[in-house]
Order: sequence, then structure tokens, then C-alpha cells
Amino acid sequence: MDFGVIDLDEETVAFWAEVRAFCQTHVTKEVLDEEFETGSGFNEGLHKALGARGWILPTWPRQEGGAGATPLQAAILDAELRAAHAPLITLGTTRNVLPAVLRWGTDELKKAVVPGVASGDVRFCLGYTEPDSGSDIAAAKTRAVRDGDEWVIDGQKMFTTGAQNCQYSFLLTRTNPEAPKHKGLTMFLCPLEQAEIRPIRTLGGERTNMVFYDAIRVPDRYRLGPVDQGWMVLLGPLNAEHAMPEDTDSAPPIDQPGGMYGYSAVEGLEVALAWARSADPDGRRPIDDPLVRERLAQAALDIEVATVSTGPAGRVISSEMAIRVAEDLMDLVGPRALLPRGEDAAIGEGWLEYLHRFAQGTATYGGTTDIFRNIIAERFLGLPRQAPRAG
Ligand SMILES: Cc1cc2nc3c(=O)[nH]c(=O)nc-3n(C[C@H](O)[C@H](O)[C@H](O)COP(=O)(O)OP(=O)(O)OC[C@H]3O[C@@H](n4cnc5c(N)ncnc54)[C@H](O)[C@@H]3O)c2cc1C
Repeated sequence: MDFGVIDLDEETVAFWAEVRAFCQTHVTKEVLDEEFETGSGFNEGLHKALGARGWILPTWPRQEGGAGATPLQAAILDAELRAAHAPLITLGTTRNVLPAVLRWGTDELKKAVVPGVASGDVRFCLGYTEPDSGSDIAAAKTRAVRDGDEWVIDGQKMFTTGAQNCQYSFLLTRTNPEAPKHKGLTMFLCPLEQAEIRPIRTLGGERTNMVFYDAIRVPDRYRLGPVDQGWMVLLGPLNAEHAMPEDTDSAPPIDQPGGMYGYSAVEGLEVALAWARSADPDGRRPIDDPLVRERLAQAALDIEVATVSTGPAGRVISSEMAIRVAEDLMDLVGPRALLPRGEDAAIGEGWLEYLHRFAQGTATYGGTTDIFRNIIAERFLGLPRQAPRAG
């Protein structure tokens, strides 16, 4: 890895200033308060403002709805949005699915949805997990049965994050229950208007959903790729989500995997630093104690290591860093760190209490850290598969 300093050209410096100004204008206190209340990972005004600048697909040419940005500029954009705590879950899922639509969708489907993706009017969520299948994605049971030019879809998905703000779900269905489990699957870009969406709130305050597909009818033009070969269609977005972009034509995740939870942890560290620098009535400051300094420095180091970590290991390191740092900073600061936002004596607007709750979920979504360890063992270390796979 090259840790060298990058010299930025004038155009990139100007772009960076534009992004910072954008964040000040559009990632407002109202946007952040709304996100805290709803946990939905999305703000329509912000999303459309990004679309208006071509920043939903920043590296795409301007004539196709992008901004003609360089990869470095795109990385600056994402880093600034993250640092401002902009709600970006639905931007991430939409960007993740788009390459599969481009690769496997019919021309008619692409014409209908792609311009809307670039402008911010069309958004995608991920419909993989079901009540009985999460890590074992290919065990999905949601049925799709052909009926003339349409498909009838029946089943239930769990944790379809952002469904309430999306027009389509990238939906994993079973079309052939007789075939081995990876071979009887078909993917759809399923319109959501007939589906019933019921909210779930997590411990970390995120909003996600149960989505019920009750004999909904979907025209065949929404099918992505060949019937019964959905696993092949799913692999691009799945590998990208698992930080394996070298295997895929799908967009890598919105951050370097290691950086994923760094911004939340940095905010926690800032809160702990402010606490450590404040004096009690006798003029004593926690930061004057070398043991306090050591623990703060350890948290800063952990965050830094996570931020520069890449690939599936980066995702594991980032999640485990967030859990450890949240716990350690809470322990250091003491009982006031337990107070949530809104309580009179809460410090840093309750960020440490929030970080502690939020960090736990990071080990689950997008694949659990156990599954990432399996990926590292099997695909990087060449160890045998952890268990024989049925089908
Ligand atoms: C906030 C949130 C948002 C989410 N968003 C989405 C979304 O948008 N779309 C979507 O489709 N899903 C989403 N998910 C679902 C998420 O991907 C699954 O929860 C996750 O893959 C785990 O599946 P599961 O919950 O069924 O747990 P299980 O797979 O039942 O796992 C239970 C436990 O067993 C362990 N385990 C399971 N299999 C193995 C194995 N082979 N080796 C070692 N350990 C194993 C797991 O690590 C875990 O600790 C979301 C989940 C959350 C919490």
C-alpha cells in the first residue's frame, strides 16, 4: 500500500472545496436530526441535490447524468459526505445494484430506470435475506412462478433496508425448487408498489423492513439475467458488498471497507477528548492523567488502523474496532457516557451511547463478520470450505 502524500491538481482542490460547500448547504442540522429520528439512511432532498450535480454516479460522463469526476474526486466526495454523517445507505445500495442492471437488464428496462438513478428519482434496495435464510443466502424460498409474460411472486423478505424509499428491490427468488439450491434462483428488479412494507427498528436506531410479496405480478421485463441462473447475477453485487471488487463488475462499496465505521468512531473520540480536556471545579482535567492519554491514543490508533485496512479483512477490522472503541471510551468517560441524546447531562449529544448501540449491528449487516472470516479463510488463505454445502 502506498502511504505517500498525494499532490492534488487545482481542479481537484476546487472540487474538494465545492464538495465541502455542498455538505454545509445540504447536510444540515435538520437532515441529521431527521436521520437520528428515522434511522432510514436516506434524505430525499439531499439525494436529489447529489443527483442534480451528477454526484450519485460521479465518475460517469456528464451526458449520462454523472459529473465526469476522477476516481480520486469520487473518493473525496464520499469521504466528505461520510465525515459530515450524511445518510447514505440507499445511495450505497442503489450504486451497488446498478452494474447488475446494466449488465443483465434488457435495453427497455435500462432506458426506463438508469436516467432516474442518476437524477436520484429511482433507487434500489437489496432483497436477499428471509426469515429462514441470512448468511445462507442461496437458501431463499421466495417463489417466482411464470404466468405468460408475467411472474407471480410470493414470499417474505427480512431486513430490506431502505425499501420505504426505493422504487425497486433487487430481489432474489426461487424459480426451480427441484434444482440444487444455487441453481434454481432468478433475480428481478422488482417494482415495490404492490409489496407490503413493514418497519423494523434496530438496537442501533436503524430503520429496516420486512417486505411481503403476496402473489404480486411482475412483467418479465423486470427479470435480470437467465431464468434459474440468478446466483450468477447476484454474485457481482454480493462480491462488491463483500469487498471483493476484483471478482466483479459491480461498484465497490461506498467506502474502503476499513473506513466504514471510522467516521462514527472519530466522532466518539472527539467527544471523549472534549470530556478529557474539560476541568472539574478543582481545575483537574482527565487528560493530565497519563493513563487517560494512553487509552485515548489507543482508540486513535485503532481507528487509524481500521481506516487504512482494505478488502474483507478491512470490514472485520472496522466493525470490531467500532465495538471495542465504543466500549472503551464509554468505560473511560464513565456514567455520563451512558446518557442518550436529549438527556440534560448527556455529553457530546449522547454520541458515545449511540456509537455503542450502533457498533453492535455493524457485525451483522452486509454479511456477518463470521462470514467474512470464512471468506478470508477460504478465498485468501486457501483453507478447505468450513462445511460441505448442500446442493
Ligand atoms: C440493520 C440491518 C440491515 C440489513 N439490511 C439488509 C438488506 O438491506 N438486505 C438484505 O437482504 N439483508 C439485510 N440485512 C440482513 C443481514 O445481511 C443478515 O442479518 C445477515 O446476513 C445474517 O443473517 P441472519 O440474520 O439470518 O443470521 P444467521 O445467518 O442465522 O446467523 C446467525 C449467527 O450464526 C453465524 N453463522 C451463520 N452461518 C455461519 C457460517 N457459515 N459460519 C460461521 N458462522 C455462521 C452468524 O455469524 C451469526 O452470528 C440487514 C441486517 C441488519 C441487522
